[in-house]
Amino acid sequence: MNYLKIRAHGKINLALDVLRKREDGYHEVRMIMQSVGLYDSIEIQNFGRMQDNTYKIEIETNLRFLPTNEKNLAYKAAAMLMEEFGLNYSIKIRIKKMIPVAAGMAGGSADCAAVLKGINKMFGLRLTQEELMDRGVTLGADIPYCIMGGTALSEGIGDILTPLSPMPDCYIILAKPRINVSTKFVYTNLQVDKLPYHPDIDGMIEAIEANDFYGMADKLGNVLETVTETEYPVINQIKRRMIELGAVNSLMSGSGPTVFGLFDNREVAKEAYSALKGWDCLRQVYITDGGNGDERY
Ligand code: ATP
Repeated sequence: MNYLKIRAHGKINLALDVLRKREDGYHEVRMIMQSVGLYDSIEIQNFGRMQDNTYKIEIETNLRFLPTNEKNLAYKAAAMLMEEFGLNYSIKIRIKKMIPVAAGMAGGSADCAAVLKGINKMFGLRLTQEELMDRGVTLGADIPYCIMGGTALSEGIGDILTPLSPMPDCYIILAKPRINVSTKFVYTNLQVDKLPYHPDIDGMIEAIEANDFYGMADKLGNVLETVTETEYPVINQIKRRMIELGAVNSLMSGSGPTVFGLFDNREVAKEAYSALKGWDCLRQVYITDGGNGDERY
């Protein structure tokens, strides 16, 4: 196989709780992860064997500010497998980015997961999903989830995953404001011992398993908002605007700054999307759904 094209789906957190800070500095989390239909398109092309015992990976992307060297997570994924399995080939990876970058949607991790799966398939490595996840976690905590996709409970540092039933059908609007939020800043400023509330994650799991959209939407919660909403009031403004425009509920994803709204009605969602598109505090707005890794978009 010399060419393949894969969709790398973004994710949102329907719930994000931080339980404690471990001695090694990592935070122990409990999160409900959900893929969205929005994806980056990844193409891998194989130009054949190299003459010597090396490999060559070329990265091309539509966003000029993204690294195209070994700092790109797609490069790291390919290099890891090519080294381990002695794949002395020249390949090119084209990344068409749609997922907002550095936005709390795990876009880089999604690309990384897609390349791990792609290289596994292209070179017939026959690694199981679990074997890919074991390798992925060494490149980032969200990567095992991105390999799995769908709806899942994520625990530990994000590496202990339990698949859940698919999220009840709904429409999702994603809105990224024109601000940059550093994940490090958010975790450093999080006061884990003084959190004003903890999202009802067990209740949300029950609602998802019962296919109860309103029960699920009612329990959205992200403790990282305690830092970002104080520092960046625009996040709360977007959430309020989503509700005004008919969202059943709205939340920030991950460490932000992307905010999502859940809608139960297609027409209402479409109108809200048009209204948000014209709002100049937003850089990117998308309308999508719970992707679950399917191929609808
Ligand atoms: P998370 O939700 O896991 O916190 P994120 O949405 O905050 O992820 P990403 O979009 O994954 O962040 O990117 C974070 C940084 O990683 C960017 O600043 C970018 O330079 C770097 N990066 C490396 N490879 C990629 C890639 N393939 N796509 C996007 N960013 C990448």
